[in-house]
Amino acid sequence: MSEQRTESGRRRTFAIVSHPDAGKTTLTEKLLLFGGAIQMAGSVKSRKAARHATSDWMALEKERGISVTSSVMQFPYAGRIVNLLDTPGHADFSEDTYRVLTAVDSALMVIDVAKGVEERTIKLMEVCRLRDTPIMSFINKLDREGREPIELLDEVESVLGIQCAPVTWPIGMGQRLKGVVHLVTGEVHLYEPGRNFTRQDSTIFPSLDDPGVEARIGAAMLSELRDELELVQGASHPFDKGEYLAGRQTPVFFGSAVSNFGVQPLLDFFVEHAPPPKSHATTSREVQPGEEAFSGFVFKIQANMDPQHRDRVAFLRVCSGHYEAGMKAFHVRTGKDAKLANALTFMASDREHVDKAWPGDVIGLHNHGTISIGDTFTAGESLAFTGIPNFAPELFRRARLRDPLKLKQLQKGLAQLSEEGATQFFRPLMSNDLILGAVGVLQFDVVAYRLRDEYGVDASFEPVQVATARWIRGGTEKKREEFREKNATNLALDAAGELVYLAPSRVNLQLTQERWPDFEFAATREHA
Ligand code: GDP
Repeated sequence: MSEQRTESGRRRTFAIVSHPDAGKTTLTEKLLLFGGAIQMAGSVKSRKAARHATSDWMALEKERGISVTSSVMQFPYAGRIVNLLDTPGHADFSEDTYRVLTAVDSALMVIDVAKGVEERTIKLMEVCRLRDTPIMSFINKLDREGREPIELLDEVESVLGIQCAPVTWPIGMGQRLKGVVHLVTGEVHLYEPGRNFTRQDSTIFPSLDDPGVEARIGAAMLSELRDELELVQGASHPFDKGEYLAGRQTPVFFGSAVSNFGVQPLLDFFVEHAPPPKSHATTSREVQPGEEAFSGFVFKIQANMDPQHRDRVAFLRVCSGHYEAGMKAFHVRTGKDAKLANALTFMASDREHVDKAWPGDVIGLHNHGTISIGDTFTAGESLAFTGIPNFAPELFRRARLRDPLKLKQLQKGLAQLSEEGATQFFRPLMSNDLILGAVGVLQFDVVAYRLRDEYGVDASFEPVQVATARWIRGGTEKKREEFREKNATNLALDAAGELVYLAPSRVNLQLTQERWPDFEFAATREHA
């Protein structure tokens, strides 16, 4: 096999999604620990301190500074190269969180056993569904009393609309948690509690019938477990790889990230079954990861907060060919050749310097605003990747200027900052307002700070009666005109000049959609 096929075929690129506090950070740490990428769990923790701070600028800066390097974590495991892409979650939740999901081949969903499916899990799941991304699920915190596992599977199936295939099953819960049964291999993994920060090797018994199991957990618990398993196997679905890869079934694992229970079986199953890099659609054709010519797209831009280094890092997912330091690539939108020198690569720990990146890998390109979200780089071919959209913001604020003479600078600042993709900006047809939209509330503080710092504009953001936005598509020229006239007060143009309906409420949106069936009210917009 060619090096191209071998290297791309062994990549496993994924993201962990969860509602805040379900255990994403802890599980990330433990996966890195089991993957041998860190010696002691705890290195991801430093982010946490910063993350829980208020929107104090120093904390923000620190948080952002750290997250450039922890944006992508790469480690080799079982002959594969695993790329774990961070999805900003707490205060730094933003549109980037959604867009990272366009750059992965699969996802891992973490659910708190006591809380079940939560609001943000639902939203992130919707985003995964746009591309039928395969998802594995980890039900976490089994070291505490939570809900019945069977009940949780039911909830995932009904609320998230995806079939569940339990791959591991917990033995006990809370204080009585002993380990997990692997329903695919039949093995029983028993753990020692209290070894939270070292890689513990579980005792693995080949099956429940092994006398060692009864000796460890007792006859009563074993018999209870057998009854439960019978019930589970009757009520759930067996793992079906095709269904998983099609995004219709989620393999489910149980465990406790904090105490290392059930993490190893998850990682082992993940590297074996999660999909390698897939092909990507472009405006002209499908690009295969096995192709030798380089190509990739930008899915995230992060500003460097350090005033000494006012550059931006554009995160590019490699789709075909490979990256090498110093190579030239064609920047399709600008039509120019760019030299890709000193790109950031993300191998965890201090292994030897990585100088090549293959499909599924991510590289960080330094630039001063020349690169935008959705941009394609190739070896020369003029194609543009699709499927890296803007998502409708969920929060809106009106920009208020202290000095009205700075309107031009304000417009320029908002437009440029929106190119980084964490916020979007809208100009209503009927007023001179400038409205900023975001999916994470901290983004308004970030923008206000950067407007002052980089553009010399003192602006604040005040509430505005907008619940959600939809891009208007379709309809005949005549209908569009009529639509614009009748709805002018709720219409705006986005930074790219596209028509957007700013709905004052969900009910209003629904009524308007019913009234104007000729139009599509799209919740995402592709980059031009
Ligand atoms: P994130 O917000 O999803 O990244 O969640 P974190 O990993 O930061 O975890 C949130 C809280 O839950 C922290 O206090 C963790 O220590 C705790 N936590 C994470 N995993 C477990 C677990 O398996 N069991 C228990 N009891 N607590 C956990």
